[in-house]
Amino acid sequence: MGDNKPNKSALSVSKGISQPPPLNPKLRKIKKQSLSTDEYVKGILKGNRTILSRAITLVESNLTEHAAQAQEIIRNCLPSSGRSIRVGITGVPGVGKSSFIEVLGTWLTGKGHKVAVLAIDPSSDRSKGSILGDKTRMESLAAEDKAFIRPSPSAGTLGGVARKTRESIFLCEAAGFDVIFVETVGVGQSETVVHSMVDFFLLLMLAGAGDELQGIKRGIMEMADLIAITKADGDNLEKSQRAAAEYRSALHLFPASDSGWTPGVEVCSAQRKFGIENIWSKILEYHEFTSMNGYFTERREQQSLFWMEETIIDSIKANFFNDGEVKAMLDKVRNDVINRQTSSFTAAQEVLDFYFRKNNLNR
Ligand code: GDP
Repeated sequence: MGDNKPNKSALSVSKGISQPPPLNPKLRKIKKQSLSTDEYVKGILKGNRTILSRAITLVESNLTEHAAQAQEIIRNCLPSSGRSIRVGITGVPGVGKSSFIEVLGTWLTGKGHKVAVLAIDPSSDRSKGSILGDKTRMESLAAEDKAFIRPSPSAGTLGGVARKTRESIFLCEAAGFDVIFVETVGVGQSETVVHSMVDFFLLLMLAGAGDELQGIKRGIMEMADLIAITKADGDNLEKSQRAAAEYRSALHLFPASDSGWTPGVEVCSAQRKFGIENIWSKILEYHEFTSMNGYFTERREQQSLFWMEETIIDSIKANFFNDGEVKAMLDKVRNDVINRQTSSFTAAQEVLDFYFRKNNLNR
């Protein structure tokens, strides 16, 4: 994937805080000027995608002055956010995530929805987007006025990348996007983190590939509100239907979910545009069901509290580990622990004692 090409896939690396080049070269002019917080907020609320994109760049930036303005923008946008359905989509590379999102997203924009696609790709730093090969994906969706596709924030801790994506969700909602897809590769911890920011969790699976081969852990299947067997076309159709039946009986063995919703298994084909609308109906059904029983709101509230706590923990952690004296002390005690001159626990206590004393904190 060339660095200069516009990047249409949501699961790829945006280096630093740079953005894909604008489709309209005249927009470069606007990009150079810095905008006031008020201009950002007004632009977002008007649904201006260029300004939305720039605001997300601020959210993703690691510079302190950017972070302060980003928080101010988010604060002003929050009252206009929340009116969307947030759908997490996961599955191993090659399962058909982008093809699925492309077909469903284009169908939804055709129905008048505004669709945003965000991504969390913790592997992007290591693989440099190799997951994608050099295909340009979601081409027709990217060309839609009513769509907004944003690649994964570039590397950082999974928690950091996820927080930025969560904040970007709010900005997209304030810009009028009423369907938000958060895409992630089903190979690590990222599913759990995506699950903590979406209303509905869709797991895409291949027929006949075997759970282990697909890197799908039981925990991920338990999180799913729906499993969709992809590529149910041609010779694969029958195999997909059989796999769906097997997963259906496997799901029966799982404990009931907190939402009271019974997860199902569907088959679909992005290539034949088959089964996709049906999956959307299930998502709507879930939305209605959980809105009626109160779970929808309850879960969003829990997620907000979860992210508040995560932010506090991240911040305290960073303060601790970035302290020069703590760093020096850790370097020393690490050796002591390895050489068994002290226990892990005692070493930890010593460093913590020092840190608390230094900051005049009571333990
Ligand atoms: P992702 O890595 O999960 O985003 O997967 P992609 O959407 O890039 O799809 C991986 C490969 O599977 C591509 O070569 C697609 O053309 C192919 N593919 C995706 N959806 C379908 C489908 O519904 N049917 C068939 N036969 N192939 C598909």
